Amino acid sequence: MNFDEIFFQLGEGESFNDLPGSPPLFQTSNFTFKTMADMAASLKQEDKIPFYTRGANPTTRILQQKLAALEGTDEALVFASGSAAITAAVVSQVKSGDHVVCVDNPYGWTKKLISEILNRFGVESSFVKASDSQGIISAVRSNTKIIFMESPNSWTYEMQDIEMITEFAKSKSITTILDNSCASPIYQQPARHGVDIIVHSASKYLSGHADMVAGVVCTSKAIYQQIFKNEYMTFGGILSPFESWLMIRSLRTLEMRMERVSRNAHMVAEFLENHPKIDQLLYTHARGFNQPTLRDKYLRGAGGLMTIDLAADNFEATEKFCNSLKRFKLGCSWGGFESLAFPAATTVSSLNYDKPNTMINRIRLYVGLENGQLLIDDLSDALSSI
Ligand SMILES: *Cc1c(COP(=O)(O)O)cnc(C)c1O
Repeated sequence: MNFDEIFFQLGEGESFNDLPGSPPLFQTSNFTFKTMADMAASLKQEDKIPFYTRGANPTTRILQQKLAALEGTDEALVFASGSAAITAAVVSQVKSGDHVVCVDNPYGWTKKLISEILNRFGVESSFVKASDSQGIISAVRSNTKIIFMESPNSWTYEMQDIEMITEFAKSKSITTILDNSCASPIYQQPARHGVDIIVHSASKYLSGHADMVAGVVCTSKAIYQQIFKNEYMTFGGILSPFESWLMIRSLRTLEMRMERVSRNAHMVAEFLENHPKIDQLLYTHARGFNQPTLRDKYLRGAGGLMTIDLAADNFEATEKFCNSLKRFKLGCSWGGFESLAFPAATTVSSLNYDKPNTMINRIRLYVGLENGQLLIDDLSDALSSI
């Protein structure tokens, strides 16, 4: 199915008598029935036939169909945040005594879930450098149940050889999970490379307007049913119908937003790559990116994330640079319309980086939908100030 069918048609109009231009928002907790037989039938298929909105809601159902098609999986579930989606996916695959292998610097709260929270329930974990696919495979033990990937990963954009890992995992009946927030399904579809569960922070590109927090799980029919009946219904971290409706609207422009973000990011990266005041630029599509083979194999394009290390290795220079930015706002998230700068030094105490003092000059940039030249001018002015 092509993107146009997914974004503009799929799931819409099927269950409604007349076709509204924009799908209806079913802002309701409850669905009522004329007969007991109808009620019992709904309850037997609570994920598809609306009974209570924690299970199924027609607006959310449209969104889930689109997201599954977008990732090329059988089914999708949406959650109140990316973290809720990741938690449901991970917890669904382990029990006490099991072991999880994870890339060593995933999203901060994913690390907390796998290293600390699962540990409280007797699940062990190993963390392996995100660019070391062979090392990830070598870390597998007889009780390993999940290999958790983030490719490209947070902050450093290290990539895993997805096919090498999923082939190995299948031979050992290990579930593979991949956080695909960074590439978005426009630029990478991990299910095509054998990944069992794809998770997203939809707060980023999928919603795309910096106005909501949401998460997605895309997977096979079997895993979907297992998660639906257990973690989805009991943790109950569902997306509200209104936010599902907003995300359907966001998906209409996902492809064009990614194109604009990508074009802007290329321009900005070109400007930064050889700037004398930049020590290092981390960006999958920089000339100096150190995993070009994996990039060309898996990524059809680049999103708007990149990380810079300022050449001046002192806190004052970082502070001056960040405080001088006018168009880039200081903020933590990404994937919306607005360009953002996130200095690593602000996170040192909360995210517990291994070597805090090497992070003083590191700043993550998200290049948004604005005019690319104005963004470059802003960075240029701020760099001149240090
Ligand atoms: C933001 C983010 C998350 C968490 O998503 P929320 O929607 O904020 O809960 C997970 N993974 C990655 C890679 C992220 O960037």
